[in-house]
Amino acid sequence: MHHIRLIGLPTDINSSFLRGPAAGPRAIRAALHSDHASGTPQIGQGFGEDFSLEDAGDLPLAEGPSDFDTIRAAVSLALEEGAVPFCLGGDHSISYPAVAAVAAAHGPVSILHFDAHPDLYDDYEGNAFSHASPFARILEAGLAKDLVQVGIRTLNRHQADQVRRFGVRSIPMLGFDPGKVPVLEGPIYVSFDLDGLDPAVAPGVSHHEPGGLTVREVLQVLDRQIAPVVGADLVELNPDRDVNGITATVAAKLVREISALIARNRG
Ligand code: MN
Ligand code: MN
Repeated sequence: MHHIRLIGLPTDINSSFLRGPAAGPRAIRAALHSDHASGTPQIGQGFGEDFSLEDAGDLPLAEGPSDFDTIRAAVSLALEEGAVPFCLGGDHSISYPAVAAVAAAHGPVSILHFDAHPDLYDDYEGNAFSHASPFARILEAGLAKDLVQVGIRTLNRHQADQVRRFGVRSIPMLGFDPGKVPVLEGPIYVSFDLDGLDPAVAPGVSHHEPGGLTVREVLQVLDRQIAPVVGADLVELNPDRDVNGITATVAAKLVREISALIARNRG
């Protein structure tokens, strides 16, 4: 049995434009525990792999500068106790402390990042820890040996410069073919921003960016990965923007699918 620990991170102080993702973990849990969908993952079917989802609840975040230390400590504790940490955001700023803790235990990771946005801003509106900047901080700190970005459809000149500077493998949405997404070397960290999905599939996000991924394409990209997955996050669910709980349902499905991938690929 593979233990995966869900860690709720109810924070959105580093969001631009809208608040709301602080309520994300609660909405994801409600969808996870609802009987309205089967909950059966497609990934790993037939392999007989099993996993247990342990819920550590929400961290008592102060919505202040000490939160990154709190997040890092909780992710480190999960790893020390033999669980794979799976962070539920919250906004995307949480990936920096989460990856820092995982890299401290496993060394630099290969990151498979799903997002409409590269999140590589040197800073955004003066905030170096903005949800638009986590991967700039991660790469500067040497926490990743590879960053593959899937779903990208908002690359501007500054972020294109950052892609070149850091050697990011940024895969544009235009002409997207899931069969051509690289198979990453382990250990892998999966970071999933729900706005990488098309807003028709996932309207419950702060930033609507049409022309995105389908759930099926996401599963094809995940299913291609064969290396051990040592940590994950799922971020940017904004329940205020959701329609009939559809995005929370997709988020819960992705928690199960990524967990099934963790179990299937365990090293
Ligand atoms: Mn995004
Ligand atoms: Mn993001």
